[in-house]
Amino acid sequence: MADRRGVITVISGFSGTGKGTLMRELMSRYDNYTLSVSMTTREPRAGEVDGRDYFFTTDENFEKMVEEGKFIEHAGYCGHYYGTPRDFVYKRLDEGYDVLLEIEVQGALQVKEKCPDALLLFVTPPSAEELKKRLEGRGTEAPDVIKERLERAKEESKYIDRYDYLLINDDLDRCTEEMHSIIQAAHAAPGRNTELIKTIIDSLYTIH
Ligand code: ADP
Ligand code: 5GP
Repeated sequence: MADRRGVITVISGFSGTGKGTLMRELMSRYDNYTLSVSMTTREPRAGEVDGRDYFFTTDENFEKMVEEGKFIEHAGYCGHYYGTPRDFVYKRLDEGYDVLLEIEVQGALQVKEKCPDALLLFVTPPSAEELKKRLEGRGTEAPDVIKERLERAKEESKYIDRYDYLLINDDLDRCTEEMHSIIQAAHAAPGRNTELIKTIIDSLYTIH
C-alpha cells in the first residue's frame, strides 16, 4: 500500500472533444497516472488493440460480468455496452496511482455515488462547429454514427453541472496542464483526508 492513495478521476465530454488525446498527453508527461481500460461490446476501430484501448467482448459475456459485480459502473452508449472493470482500478489506487476513467455521464454519476471522493471533470470543445470538425477529422466513424454522437452530446450537456470542473480543450498543451493541476490539487481535498483530520481534531481536545 502506498503512503498516499491515488485520486480516482473521471473524464467525460462529448465524443470528439479530445478526451483520448488529453489522456495520452497526461500519461506521456507524468508518471503518476494510470488509465483504466474499459470493456465494451462495440467493434474495434482500425488501429485499436484489445487490452490496450479496450477489452472487446460480447453482449453475453458483458451481461454475465455485470451480474457477477465485476464493474464499478457500466452504461449503454449508442447501442453498445461500456463498463469499468473494478479490481484493476482499486488495486492501482492503493498503489498510489491517480486512475483516469474516460467514461460517459451515466457511468460518471455511478462512480460518484460509489466513491464520493472521485473527481469529476467534464471537457468541452471550444465550439460545436469545432466538435463536428474534430469528429469528422478523426475519420473513424461513418456519417450516421457521427450524427448519432452529436445527438448524444445534447443529452450529455444536461449533466455538466453534476461535475466538479469544466475544462475547455482549445489548446491541447494548456488544457493538459490545467487538468494535471486540478487532479494534483484534489489530493488535498478534506473528503480524501478524513483520517488525518480526525487525528488533528482529536489532539485539539487533548492539548493544554
Ligand atoms: P474523444 O476521445 O473525446 O472522442 P479524440 O481524442 O479521439 O476525442 O479527439 C478527436 C479528434 O480531435 C482527434 O482527431 C484529435 O487529434 C483532435 N484533437 C484533440 N484535441 C485537440 C485540440 N486541442 N485541438 C485540435 N484538435 C484536437
Ligand atoms: P468510444 O466508442 O468513442 O470509444 O466511446 C464512446 C463513449 O463511451 C465515450 O463517451 C467514452 O467516454 C465512453 N466510455 C468508454 N469507456 C466507458 C466505460 O467503461 N464506462 C462508461 N460508462 N462509458 C465509457
